[in-house]
Amino acid sequence: MCAIVGVFGVEKASTVAYYSLFSMQHRGQEATGISVTDGKRLTVYKKRGMVTDVFYQDILDGLRGRCAVGHNRYSTAGSDSVGDAQPVFAKYKLGEISVVHNGNLVNKQEVRQALIDKGAIFQTDMDTENIIHLIAKSEKNSLEDRIKDMLTKIEGAYCLAIQSRKKMFVIRDRFGIRPLSLGRFSDGGYIVASETCAFDLVGAEFIRDVKPGEMLIFEEGKEPTSQMVFENVDYHPCAFEYIYFARPDSIIDGKNVYKMRLQMGKRLAKETPTDIDLVLPVPDSGVAAARGYAEVLGVPFEMGIVRNHYVGRTFIEPTQAIRDLKVKMKLSPIEHLIAGKRVAIIDDSLVRGTTSKQIVRMLKEAGATEVHMRIASPEIKFPCRYGIDTPTREELISTKYTPSEIAKRMGADSLGFLSIEGLKESLGKDRNYSLVSFDGNYFAGGNAESPSCGEI
Ligand code: AMP
Repeated sequence: MCAIVGVFGVEKASTVAYYSLFSMQHRGQEATGISVTDGKRLTVYKKRGMVTDVFYQDILDGLRGRCAVGHNRYSTAGSDSVGDAQPVFAKYKLGEISVVHNGNLVNKQEVRQALIDKGAIFQTDMDTENIIHLIAKSEKNSLEDRIKDMLTKIEGAYCLAIQSRKKMFVIRDRFGIRPLSLGRFSDGGYIVASETCAFDLVGAEFIRDVKPGEMLIFEEGKEPTSQMVFENVDYHPCAFEYIYFARPDSIIDGKNVYKMRLQMGKRLAKETPTDIDLVLPVPDSGVAAARGYAEVLGVPFEMGIVRNHYVGRTFIEPTQAIRDLKVKMKLSPIEHLIAGKRVAIIDDSLVRGTTSKQIVRMLKEAGATEVHMRIASPEIKFPCRYGIDTPTREELISTKYTPSEIAKRMGADSLGFLSIEGLKESLGKDRNYSLVSFDGNYFAGGNAESPSCGEI
């Protein structure tokens, strides 16, 4: 998961990166960081915490230069040290570099072991550190060639921004799994960001998505250049970005995320209709899909569950007991709307089943006479290895139980999922979306047992 941003040719690039990271806070709340170059040296500031907690005016003022790369880190089980924050900085034969990375490399253990066997030492568990080592150890003469050399050795999902003292390199893997867009400022300068919502906040104009397999090179005084660094490009944008992860106002591959969610909800209603009085979303993740669901069935839609925004996401907490408590802290039903009603409750996805179980209980306690759970994505049966943090197969509730068994365990009157075909049609058949969590097609390498984000 995570967010990256690269800003080039802009005064106070660190401030632009700061606002961009702020708008992409949803992609990672554990740590954040920015690296800048003034043409002579790189300066990095990174820390655990949210963007507004980590950066202050005086810190940004100290990060001087016209090029900045930044990162928001998503919390993954077992890795929460500041050492795992990005950008990752290194001095090497050709000078200094900082790297930010969104995605997950599936061959990180093999690559790391090979590097360790040759004497490399590592400070963190991050696959991003492998990237730095591969660049440093390459025998090519220019950074550009070293980066290309490194790219032949890594597999999986990645969007990278690599900063040297004078240049910025941006690369998207040949499958284009994670999103990455290019924007421009009217008074000069460029920005690349994981999501277009960053452009809206900093006043950049969207130009286009970075192409799968493309490398963009930014250099002061020149127009950016583009080259395709892979011969076999096989575009598979991640469906889960549309389902859950991206912000609803973002546009990925020309498609607005909110509209896609609305479509999924509409299709869900056609596939799993039910006799109900009221449609409720799980806030905020199920809102757009619930609107679509209610519209197709012609049933009232209400924001019948209040979300306390001051609690972090529940999924990311390490133990089951804390996760349960956090659901209650986060969500609270409006009894007045719910009592005596047959309700459908819509969420975007079902992972471990923790949130849903609590919500069903909450709605029944609030007086709902029937609770029908509807999920606007298919059953998650496989861990994603391409950058969406999913637990092991054993922890995924849909690998162990059928929908009706899950409904029973949750105390729901029924449970329905969007079909894989329904998801494909909602997103549009113009693309081969990455559906790995649903169909187990690990097209970019790796398998259900490969290391996930943050692990090694
Ligand atoms: P669970 O309660 O374990 O089934 O998790 C489902 C909830 O977590 C849904 O409300 C989703 O919006 C949310 N969710 C789905 N995938 C993720 C993820 N990778 N990280 C954090 N939250 C997620």
